[in-house]
Amino acid sequence: MTVFNFGSINIDHFYRLPHLPGPGETLAATGYDRGLGGKGANQSVAAHRAGADVVHIGMVGPDGSGRRELNGFGVDVRFVGTEGRVTGHANVHVDAAGENMIVVLPGANHEQSLTLLKSALAEARPGDHFMLQGEANLGAEAAALAREAGCFVTYSAAPFKPARVAEMLPLCDLVAVNSVEAQQMAAHMGVTVDALPIANLLITDGAKGARWRGDEVIDQPAFAVEAVDTTGAGDCFIGTVIAALDQGAGRAEALRRGAGAAALQVTRPGTADAMPTADEVAAFLDGR
Ligand code: ATP
Repeated sequence: MTVFNFGSINIDHFYRLPHLPGPGETLAATGYDRGLGGKGANQSVAAHRAGADVVHIGMVGPDGSGRRELNGFGVDVRFVGTEGRVTGHANVHVDAAGENMIVVLPGANHEQSLTLLKSALAEARPGDHFMLQGEANLGAEAAALAREAGCFVTYSAAPFKPARVAEMLPLCDLVAVNSVEAQQMAAHMGVTVDALPIANLLITDGAKGARWRGDEVIDQPAFAVEAVDTTGAGDCFIGTVIAALDQGAGRAEALRRGAGAAALQVTRPGTADAMPTADEVAAFLDGR
């Protein structure tokens, strides 16, 4: 089976600074790093490392940055276009105390192509998985087309956008959120989190674990580890869960692998680079 992921691709630029700049100030950075980011790309890398065949559908700028990096991780990028004006990117400024200031330009992530999406979905078979998140445009169109193709559609409602909820929820088989987004969604709909009208809802809650609420409720505690960087933990979790479901695992087993992968991911610095492989997760879970 295949996991299709319609999602954002960013290049993250990290600048280490003596302090965060004030208005009008020019500062010399003391260090620089560059890496692949964006919720879409992160989830593709996580699912690929978890052993799934992952086809990413997205858009970058004419220089191909982001597409190249995603391909370097082994993800199928045949349906990542290069017709965007500029690849989405984030400038992350971090001061000596670890405080940060982030500027994100969505760029090509807001210039998705329905033609590319349809070409990708022409390869989909009923029962394949389709993921999408809140950082790309055309989400509702994408979810509807994936449904038509017979895919199981998982929507990570992050970042939470109130205007999108009503159109997205009926198009999704599973909605994945963290506890903050779950509260935002419930407040927006005027109900409690427990009363959210969603057939399958997966709520992650950091070191407390995760809950799948569907026709049964499955609680998956987090594994106790020394976390050094939790950026991308949610993307690691959901990418691994969907990869496991795509490989035929049951929901409880998929959640266990997701929690194992995310536990390992938070013990490593970085985001996409820090996603563990299926073998690493299996070794971590062995005997637990
Ligand atoms: P992010 O926005 O940083 O990508 P998120 O808020 O979407 O993350 P979280 O709910 O923080 O996602 O975490 C997702 C999953 O990762 C949790 O359900 C848990 O299994 C695992 N996890 C996160 N933080 C920790 C931690 N400190 N220790 C162990 N596991 C963790």
